Amino acid sequence: MVTVCPECGAEESRDVWDQVVGGRLAWGVSGRCPADPEHSAWESCGWDETPPDIRGELLERHGEHRLRVTPRPGWSRMRLLRALRGEDTPLAEVKDLASRVLAGEITGTEGEMDLLAHRIRPAGLDDAAERVS
Ligand SMILES: [Zn+2]
Repeated sequence: MVTVCPECGAEESRDVWDQVVGGRLAWGVSGRCPADPEHSAWESCGWDETPPDIRGELLERHGEHRLRVTPRPGWSRMRLLRALRGEDTPLAEVKDLASRVLAGEITGTEGEMDLLAHRIRPAGLDDAAERVS
């Protein structure tokens, strides 16, 4: 995504990020004009649900990531299901998600994969996110 400075029309230098902070997903976007970097800097950020346009930009700039998990001895499918279970998620959906996690089929932004890894770690799984595109 290219955005321009509202003052002079120059192409802004722009960055987007997402990362896990205190067990939640934080996201942000910032920009500044190369002609006046000190006075033109702006930033916008938020928690949890990343706006679709920001999420698209994250995937475009930082790539799509896949989470690979390796069960450690003594890992527990029960604990994995519990870790993945949200407030009202039907059990069938949670089981399906667990299978996809174990098969390494879940992809998303780097921050989303970090968040998922953070949630499932107590179930006894080693994890690693890798860039796939
Ligand atoms: Zn400018």
